[in-house]
Amino acid sequence: ARLGTTAADLLETARDVVVQHEGELGDLDAIAGDGDHGIGMRRGVEAAAAAARSAAGERSACDVLAAAGDAWSEKAGGTSGALWGAGIAAVGRVLGNKEEHDGADAAAAAAAFRDAVVDLGKTEIGDKTMVDALHPYADAVSAGIAAGRSVAEVLAEAAGVATEAARATADLRPKKGRARPLAEKSLGHPDPGAYSFALIATGVAEALS
Ligand code: ADP
Ligand code: MG
Ligand code: MG
Repeated sequence: ARLGTTAADLLETARDVVVQHEGELGDLDAIAGDGDHGIGMRRGVEAAAAAARSAAGERSACDVLAAAGDAWSEKAGGTSGALWGAGIAAVGRVLGNKEEHDGADAAAAAAAFRDAVVDLGKTEIGDKTMVDALHPYADAVSAGIAAGRSVAEVLAEAAGVATEAARATADLRPKKGRARPLAEKSLGHPDPGAYSFALIATGVAEALS
């Protein structure tokens, strides 16, 4: 099914982005966390892309992304893996068995990803997590689509918004996750999960442009 194939393509894009930045993500997580964000993201996204590719073609976008989400959570280990797995599966539930997607689907997918991460992580804006990039991203996608602009244009702009938001987390002290006990050390450095989300959003927007 066509949309399932697009999902597999985009997960491979995400994988390439993560592989390219694995060391950088690990170093960032090592400042106040346990240093495994690069390896965890790589293991998760590699497993998710492989699961999506083997399901794509025959199965619906929902099934493809459910398989990818399970693989991501299982293989990544760590907090971000469970959050990405839940987010990817939630995007699949929004797309269902559609063959084509439009702007409204893109906005619903971004909101569903954000909501799934917030529900599982119980995180608020300002806690210095990936949620600080996800909220402005989903809002920007929704606003751009509502203004009648193209999906490619809107995702590119939203990726810029996420990048800026991820950078701005440098000014925050972490309130959730493993970085919390070393909160002071993390001041001046962006949150690893917000940063990796922005990198992936940028890669996805470039792939769709
Ligand atoms: P772990 O913290 O288990 O080592 P990672 O290093 O892969 O996992 O991921 C850390 C990132 O996960 C953080 O930078 C943050 O963005 C995100 N994170 C951690 N806890 C939460 C949470 N409760 N809600 C949302 N995001 C979180
Ligand atoms: Mg970590
Ligand atoms: Mg860890």
